[in-house]
Amino acid sequence: MLNNMPVINGDPLWALLGRFRADQRKHKIDLLVGVYRDEHGNTPVMKTVQDAEIHLAHEAHSKAYGMLSGNANFNQQMAKFVLGDRPSLNNQCTIQTVGASGALRLIADLIAILSPDSTVWISDPGYINHRPLMEGAGLTVNTYPWQNKNGQLDIDACFAALEKAKAGDVLLLHACCHNPTGIDPSLEQWQRFSDKCKQKNIVPFIDMAYQGFGDDPDTDAAGLRLIIKDSDFAFIAASCSKNMGLYNERTGIATVMTTNHERHADIQTLLETITRANYSMPPNHGAAVASYLLDKPDAWLVELASYRGRVDTIRQALGKALKDRDAPAEFLDISHQKGMFSLLPLTENQMLILQDEFAIYGMPNGRINIAGLKMTEIPQLTDAIMSIISR
Ligand code: PMP
Repeated sequence: MLNNMPVINGDPLWALLGRFRADQRKHKIDLLVGVYRDEHGNTPVMKTVQDAEIHLAHEAHSKAYGMLSGNANFNQQMAKFVLGDRPSLNNQCTIQTVGASGALRLIADLIAILSPDSTVWISDPGYINHRPLMEGAGLTVNTYPWQNKNGQLDIDACFAALEKAKAGDVLLLHACCHNPTGIDPSLEQWQRFSDKCKQKNIVPFIDMAYQGFGDDPDTDAAGLRLIIKDSDFAFIAASCSKNMGLYNERTGIATVMTTNHERHADIQTLLETITRANYSMPPNHGAAVASYLLDKPDAWLVELASYRGRVDTIRQALGKALKDRDAPAEFLDISHQKGMFSLLPLTENQMLILQDEFAIYGMPNGRINIAGLKMTEIPQLTDAIMSIISR
């Protein structure tokens, strides 16, 4: 069998992380992986998550198997958190998944069963794993552009590309804090996406990986809620990885939205059948924690707001530092972008210089994790950028 082993290039992110770890320079900076970091560079367990875990440990009475759909209260509370307490809640079928990645793949598998000829449209640049997740289910993927040269949403080019989409295709959009650009559509632009989906009979598929990291959770969900309100059929993948810091607990949901209530039971069964043939059922711990937090969210929302506040403070300080140094205009939109990521307008070679000469590690496409930056490191990054672009 091993003779048939294909040559595979591993994920560049993990390869770079290996290089970062091996780098002996004391002043090295890791802007690679998309995790929240505090001012000390740690990715802490949230205090409210720890409290929930202590409570759950005391209450625990069994590790017996749960339901195929996972934790029912978690599913219900997450659907409410994402969709808001509104009529569209009646139109959802939700199942607990292995993070948003699990939800993306589960929905891709569902699309492959219901409509195998659908093309899934993803943004370029976009989340590095969207294509493998969709293609892994056997689906065809096409791209629409996202960011223009000035660091803004390239809305005309985006809609021009979507003209080629056919009825039944799927439009995968990031709900907020677009990865890797940090560029989110305005509500008017969300309305345009919604109109386009209706006009061309395209199915919206919204990936909500960062709710509460751009603005408050309801504001971050406003575009998703707008497009859902207007559509008879849609998909959602959502995650607790970032907003609860439950990364390695692999906690998320897949939601199918349809106004056809008679088909809800069949959809739920089909989702469960797909996961049953894959990993049977999702792990419990993360969902139990999330469910506990969502039942009484006040303290967690305050903690989440402090995370969001730190990322935005760093973002604004970096934007200001670049402005003070008269960096070119295309660098200054960093201040207006949202969430953990932005794309530095540097070439792959310039990103390599940033790494080799200045010990600052970002992705080859220019993506940096703003949350990975400490306030004290902003001058080091600004100096490096100004040095590189002046050559
Ligand atoms: N979608 C996007 C846009 C992401 O950035 C990520 C992870 N960084 C995911 C999905 C996957 O999330 P999870 O870790 O919950 O699987």
